[in-house]
Amino acid sequence: MTCEEVLDEEDEYQYQRAACFLPADGELALEEIDVANKADLEVAEMDSFAGLYRIDAATDLDGAYPDNEPDADVDAEPEGNSGFGAMHSDGYRRQAPTIPDARLALGDLERILYPKRQKKKGSEAEYETCQTPLDPVTRARVDDIRSFLWRYCDFDADGKPRNISAGSWMQASMDIAGSETKGSWRARILRASAKSYIQTRELPMHDYGKRKSRINNEELSSEIQIHLQSVGKYASAEDIVKFSKDDDVQKRYDFTKPICLTTAKLWMSLLGYRWTKEPKGQYQDGHEREDVVKYRQEVFLPAWAKFEKRLRVWTDDNIHLKLDEDPNATPLADTRNTVVWFHDESTFYAHDRRAVRWVHKDESAKPQPKGEGASLMVAHFVSADYGYLQSPDGTETARVLFKAGKGRDGYYTNERIIQHAEKAIEIVQKHYPNDDHVLIFDNATTHVKRADNALSARHMPKNPVRSWGVTVPVKNTNGTTMCHPDGKPQKTKVPMEPGRFANGEPQPLYFPDGHEKAGWFKGMTQILQERGFEAESKLRAECKAFQCPPGGEIRCCCRRFLYNQPDFKQVESVLEMTCRAKGVRVLFLPKFHCELNFIEQVWGCAKRVYREFPPSSKESDLEKNVVDALNSVSLLMMRR
Ligand SMILES: [Zn+2]
Repeated sequence: MTCEEVLDEEDEYQYQRAACFLPADGELALEEIDVANKADLEVAEMDSFAGLYRIDAATDLDGAYPDNEPDADVDAEPEGNSGFGAMHSDGYRRQAPTIPDARLALGDLERILYPKRQKKKGSEAEYETCQTPLDPVTRARVDDIRSFLWRYCDFDADGKPRNISAGSWMQASMDIAGSETKGSWRARILRASAKSYIQTRELPMHDYGKRKSRINNEELSSEIQIHLQSVGKYASAEDIVKFSKDDDVQKRYDFTKPICLTTAKLWMSLLGYRWTKEPKGQYQDGHEREDVVKYRQEVFLPAWAKFEKRLRVWTDDNIHLKLDEDPNATPLADTRNTVVWFHDESTFYAHDRRAVRWVHKDESAKPQPKGEGASLMVAHFVSADYGYLQSPDGTETARVLFKAGKGRDGYYTNERIIQHAEKAIEIVQKHYPNDDHVLIFDNATTHVKRADNALSARHMPKNPVRSWGVTVPVKNTNGTTMCHPDGKPQKTKVPMEPGRFANGEPQPLYFPDGHEKAGWFKGMTQILQERGFEAESKLRAECKAFQCPPGGEIRCCCRRFLYNQPDFKQVESVLEMTCRAKGVRVLFLPKFHCELNFIEQVWGCAKRVYREFPPSSKESDLEKNVVDALNSVSLLMMRR
C-alpha cells in the first residue's frame, strides 16, 4: 500500500523515546530501557539518583573540596533538567569527606565487592557466607564509587599522592566520570552517592522496580489526567511539564523543580497514553492473546480461506485476472466471484491537521472536546473490486455521515450499524447481483452485540422458575427506547431464545402447554437432562463466582458445561443474523488486527488529502471537505 500512514521522523523518534520507558507493570523497569540509547539511560539514572539523594538546590551534597578548587560544575546541567541546577547560590560550601573516613568506607566497600573467604573462629572448614549478590546495575554503581574512593585516597606510605587527583574530592570524581566518557553531571552523582555511603553505609541500590514514582500519587495522577483532558486531543508530555511548573502544583505536591520532558513522557506512558495513530490504529499488545489467537486461527482464517479462491485477483499492473487465468486458482463449479467489503468508521475533525498524537489506551471514537472544532464521523464500506460501496453511477451510496454526540445524531449504536449493513446489502444486491458478498467488520463491542434475549447460560437458574426471562428495554416501532416520565428507560421481561439439540432441532427453554409447570423456565438441570447429560445435570449450579478451576475442565459445574455447549458458544450477533437472513455473510476481524482492514489505508489517504484543504470551522465546509477527500481516493489507489 502506498497510502499507508507513515510516522514522520520526529514522531518516530518521540515514539521510540517513549517506548523505551514503557513500564512492565506500571512502574519503571530499567531492563526495558535500550541500553544502547545512552541518553535515555542517563536521564533515567539521573532521575533515579536525584530521587535517591534529592540532589537539588536545597540539599546538594556536593560541596567544597579541601584544595579549594574553583566551582567547576555549576554548568553541569543537562538539557531539560532545569530544576537540578542552581548550585551554591548561597555560597555555602560543605566539606568533602576526610581521607580516613573515605578509606574506612573503601575498605567496607571492597569487602562487599570482593568478599574474602575468612575462616571462622574454631573451625577450619567453615567460611563466612557471601554477601547477597548485587544486581548488575548496583554492582556497576558500587564499582564506580570504589574506583572513585580509591583514587581519592591513593597515597603511598609516606603520604605522597600516587595520582594527581589523590586528595581532591572534585578532581577524583571527574577522573572516574571522564574515564567513562561521562560528564560532570555523572561526577556529581558519584560524589553524592559516595558521600552518602561514607555517612550511612547505604549502597545506591538499583531500585527502579521498587521506588514509587511520584506519578503513583493518585491525587497527582488524577489531577494530571484532568489537566490533559482539558488540553484536549493533542495533549503532550510538554503539557505535563508546564503543569509541573505551576506554583500551586509545586507547593501542593512538594515539587522542588518542574519535571523534565523525559519524565513527562514516561508519565504519559504510565497514565496509559501511547504515542500512536488515532484510536483506531490499535496497538500490538493484544495480538497474541490466547482468545485472539484462537479466534484468528479457528474462526477467521478458515472462514477467509473458504471464499478466498473466489476473490478477484489483481496483478501489479492492476489487471484483473479472470478466475481461469489465475494460475493459482482451483477450478470452481461456477464462476461467481466473492466481493469482500470492509466496513469502518472514522472521524474527521474540523481542526485536524495532525496524524499522530498521544492516545489514551481507553480512548475510543467519541465526541471530541471543543478544542478541535466540529467533527464528522464517516462510516463506509470499501472493496478492492469496486472501491466505495455505491451504485456504479454514484447516486446510491452506503456512505454514512454522522455527527456523533449528544444533541447531534447521537451515537453509532448497534442499531445504526445494522441499518448501515442493510443499506449496503440493498445496494450491492441491486447493482452487483452476480457476485457473492461478504461484509467485514471490526470486532468492536457495538458490532458483535448479541440479541438481548440470545441464548446465554450466564444467569440461568438451576431449577425451574415460574417467570424467568431476560430484561430488555422497551422499544417503539422505529427502534427508539421508550422512557418513563422520569426519564428512566422502560424495561420488560422477555423469554430467552431456545437452544439447539445436537441434531439441530430447537430446544425450548420453557415447559410446554399441558405440562404441570407450563410456561415455567426449565432450569439448567432439566435442560441438561433433555440433552442426555444425566451426570452433568447433577453438578453444582456454578463454581464460586463462576471462577471455575483453570485447565479447561468443563465438568465442574452446570453453568460451565452449558457455556461450552455448541449452541451456547455459537450464538450469532444481531448483525450476523440480520445479514445472513439477506444472504450475505458477515465476518469479524480478529481483535487488535485492524491492520487487516483495508479501509484503514483508505482513511489514511483521505485524511491526508483532507488536511490539505483550507481550514474551516463551518460544519457545512467540513462535510464538503470530507466528501471531497473521500472521493479523491481512487479505486486505483485503493488497490495498491
Ligand atoms: Zn465451574
